[in-house]
Amino acid sequence: MKDGFNAFEMAQAQFDRVADLLSLESGMRELLRWPMREFHFTIPVRMDDGSVRVFRGFRIQHNDLRGPAKGGIRFHPQETADTVRALATWMTWKCSLVDIPLGGGKGGIICDPRRMSPREQEQLCRGWVRQIFKNVGPVSDVPAPDVMTNAQHMLWMLDEYEILAGGHYPGFITGKPIGMGGSLGRTEATGYGVMFCVREAMRRLGREVRGMTAAFQGFGNVAQYALRWFTAAGGRAVSVSCWDAHDNIAYTYRRGDGVDPDFLVSITDSYGAIDRQKAVAAGYEVLPGEEWIKQPVEILVPCALENQINADTVRQIAPSVVLLAEGANGPTTPDADPVLKQRGIYVLPDFLCNAGGVTCSYFEQVQAAMNFYWDKEEVLKRLDSIMTRAFHAMADLADARGVFMRDAAYMIAVERVAHAARLRGRA
Ligand code: NAD
Repeated sequence: MKDGFNAFEMAQAQFDRVADLLSLESGMRELLRWPMREFHFTIPVRMDDGSVRVFRGFRIQHNDLRGPAKGGIRFHPQETADTVRALATWMTWKCSLVDIPLGGGKGGIICDPRRMSPREQEQLCRGWVRQIFKNVGPVSDVPAPDVMTNAQHMLWMLDEYEILAGGHYPGFITGKPIGMGGSLGRTEATGYGVMFCVREAMRRLGREVRGMTAAFQGFGNVAQYALRWFTAAGGRAVSVSCWDAHDNIAYTYRRGDGVDPDFLVSITDSYGAIDRQKAVAAGYEVLPGEEWIKQPVEILVPCALENQINADTVRQIAPSVVLLAEGANGPTTPDADPVLKQRGIYVLPDFLCNAGGVTCSYFEQVQAAMNFYWDKEEVLKRLDSIMTRAFHAMADLADARGVFMRDAAYMIAVERVAHAARLRGRA
């Protein structure tokens, strides 16, 4: 928990609201409100200096009524069980909303990989798998990368799993490197998926992406590809922001005539931290991190962390903003929603907007099962079609019932899972 914010309480508050809208019966509410299973464990790692450090790991499976639990593993020094619970819950709704046959899970390790050698990180990955081996797998729970984890971490985890299982199980984990069971397009999938939703929203608003202005928060995997797509489509992003681990503070990098994605990526490390001196030398203005939300743009794209748009910060959003595209998980707290609604800001809720990643992870599993891999064009075409369909289903319901976009998305997602529970006779 940070600053009194509790992501799981937020996920439950969002669920309670939609349970009321759907008039869900009490047993069903209890079933869907809580994770079905949780694992908390320790992972001892022999560090490079010879000492042993014990890390805390989690895997939380929220729901598997529609298919195996699915969700990433985060490495973060401030990771909490409640954050992982919330993220597992959101995965259930996300997979349901885009209608792929998967449930929701999430994992985490309290650690800071930026301060660990590659060997120490490898031991941590292998240790995590050894502790959870019997309770995850291609037909029960399928992990993936998330904040501060990458394809190399996934491959170490797969390798450990396959050693223990004594066979090849590429469906155990997604986000693997290309050529080692990974899917082309996975790196781009989440950021592009965000922008497929933005494109469709603009069409519905009778506008187009070309000529629109945007401000991004974060400059990691999601933001980088969303920014690239947006710029290529003729949009102008005026700022991106990131966490500076050296100064322990976030900065916003601004250039009024449009940031250059390729240049910024070239001066950004693998954790999404921009080299401040190089940015300044190239003429970028450096502002405090929280300035991203005040930019006089038409689109805001939060792609960093949860709890960024809350009762306090929502009032800083400029009058020019027409669209909020939630690339991050849980960037907006429930108490900010009424303000967004009253302002008429078109909201693309996180569990739709960033569902491109899990959709492509699903494609990775499909390809692994066939042992036949599609080219990138095919992956992105299928991704576009799933994201576009899910967006319009949500927007149609919001129009038909006169409800807020986030409520419409929740109504579709929760009702599908409730339907599966009824069919299975679980509630
Ligand atoms: P990442 O680790 O690659 O990048 C995170 C970025 O956020 C970095 O640039 C970091 O510097 C920045 N950041 C951290 N704290 C900040 C702060 N206080 N202010 C400004 N910037 C800050 O992570 P990512 O994979 O891009 O994920 C970003 C968000 O999207 C997370 O909420 C994640 O759960 C969500 N998400 C990611 C994927 C995916 O496929 N990568 C899929 C769905 C959702």
